[in-house]
Amino acid sequence: MPYFDYNATSPLRDCARAAWLKASAESWANPSAIYPSAQRARHALERNRMALATILGCRAERIVFTSGATECNNTVLHHYASKGASCAVSAVEHQSVLVPAKALFGERLIVMPVDESGRLDIAEAERLIHAHRPALVSLMAANSETGVVQPVEELSRICRAEHVHMHCDAVQLLGRLPLNHLLDRCDFFSFSAHKIGGPRGVGVLVIPHKCTERMGLFQGGPQERYQRAGTENLAGAEALVAAFSEAVMEVAHGRMLRQAAFKASFEARMEQLGARIIGRGAERLPNTSLFIMPRHQGLRWVTRMATKGFEIATGSACGSEQEQPSHVLSAMGIDAAGATQVLRVSSGASVDEAEWIALADALAKTQMELDAEENVDAFGVILP
Ligand code: PLP
Repeated sequence: MPYFDYNATSPLRDCARAAWLKASAESWANPSAIYPSAQRARHALERNRMALATILGCRAERIVFTSGATECNNTVLHHYASKGASCAVSAVEHQSVLVPAKALFGERLIVMPVDESGRLDIAEAERLIHAHRPALVSLMAANSETGVVQPVEELSRICRAEHVHMHCDAVQLLGRLPLNHLLDRCDFFSFSAHKIGGPRGVGVLVIPHKCTERMGLFQGGPQERYQRAGTENLAGAEALVAAFSEAVMEVAHGRMLRQAAFKASFEARMEQLGARIIGRGAERLPNTSLFIMPRHQGLRWVTRMATKGFEIATGSACGSEQEQPSHVLSAMGIDAAGATQVLRVSSGASVDEAEWIALADALAKTQMELDAEENVDAFGVILP
């Protein structure tokens, strides 16, 4: 079944599955114990930390393995909230940033607006940071719904000048675009394995070099140099590193860029059907397209497309059970009616041109069917 919802989660890569099975069979001992099998597990964990540091372009000491990006985001926010500090986040952050930020900081939270293309309004962000001097600023690298790439580098320059710490949720950027020394720019980063072919339930928090403070979201053992309590998930770390290295190679070899070309032809066809592409004017991830289709509700499209064998989304998977329109679209000024007609498709490097063409064909056919069921013509005129 053609799958076009990689931003929600992605199929497990063979290399990640093999790494997970091997580590589970051979290195299942607790890496914190001292007998030989445990020491071998400890050695394997540190080898993975080093390999990941090379992939990400940072020091191994900065890497903390976690249960996923939701934990990473909560950890950073919790740390600053527990100091009584204030915090600034963009209005289009993932729920795993926005929800805890609102709960933890309350009135000490500053929300930075985006423009109509969904990109952070950098001038307004600078003004807010200068006026409020938050201790922490959080900006995602690329938006999961729109694919819009955010000005992390520009904001990090402002944060450095204002002596403000910066966190970046880079979940959707990794494996889609080059990291380009991004890890030198911010203090904290969140990554997740399952968006790029790794398993669920494992992620990476990157902390500042020589960080002496303990993050301590969980109370417990001294694992991960006191930064993350809980028995280490070695098999998860092995699989994450295998997936990250393959995904980063795909970007380096231009395989992800091919998706941008396939997507461009796809979007041109959607526009012929009357679609409005969201974030059109901004730099976007090569694999992501979010668009408003005319006349019919997003949910009707998604269910009808599923009967044709295509799996697509109405927006973010996390929001699909909510009745409220996406906070990302509201922040971009898209009205509630438009937000219910939105569709998102997101691909991986192995999706080929034929699949994109078949997707466009199926959407065109679905539009004819839905129009016929509602007796409207291609201009939206109700037929007698
Ligand atoms: N941040 C972004 C931008 C995401 O897209 C997601 C996944 O939906 C998360 C964080 C949460 O990641 P995880 O599923 O690893 O907790």
